Amino acid sequence: MTMAVRLSDIPAEGLVLDYRHDPGRLEPMGEGVHVLEPVDVHLTITPEGDRYLIQGEVRGLLQLECGRCLASVISAVIAPCAVDAVPLSEHASADEHGSLGRGDLDVTFYSGPVLNLDDLVREQLLLNVPMRPLCREGCLGLCPSCGKNRNEGPCGCHDLTETDPRLDALRRLRGRSNA
Ligand SMILES: [Zn+2]
Ligand SMILES: [Zn+2]
Repeated sequence: MTMAVRLSDIPAEGLVLDYRHDPGRLEPMGEGVHVLEPVDVHLTITPEGDRYLIQGEVRGLLQLECGRCLASVISAVIAPCAVDAVPLSEHASADEHGSLGRGDLDVTFYSGPVLNLDDLVREQLLLNVPMRPLCREGCLGLCPSCGKNRNEGPCGCHDLTETDPRLDALRRLRGRSNA
């Protein structure tokens, strides 16, 4: 069952949400991304015509993959939220006029009588996942030729320090001027 808010239940002064979101309902998050614990959700939803302004914060513990060696990285993600929930039909017409965004607000879409909180919480967490998380400072990554994790020791491949052709040219120049 989806976590959702019935739009007709949102009072004019706004609805405060303060709960822990079941991580199972957020999966699949995306490749290499998993939610480890219930996610803290603190949001206020305020109606503005047929749009809804959603503000607050979502906090979760995520398991990510190291951007270099693919080892798992645990990351506490704090997602400050400022989202404009727009009805899907309005999106289609607003898109034609190219005037959808309102300043710094993220945009999410809803259709039907409910606002899907699974989608909203998932989107907000993913927006705040570090782009290239590292398992440790100075992770050595995987060997490009044999694929071994170089944090576990040298792999025995010849050290294929990338020979940049521009550097080679520079070395040749240097050699010539020294001669
Ligand atoms: Zn790593
Ligand atoms: Zn190797």
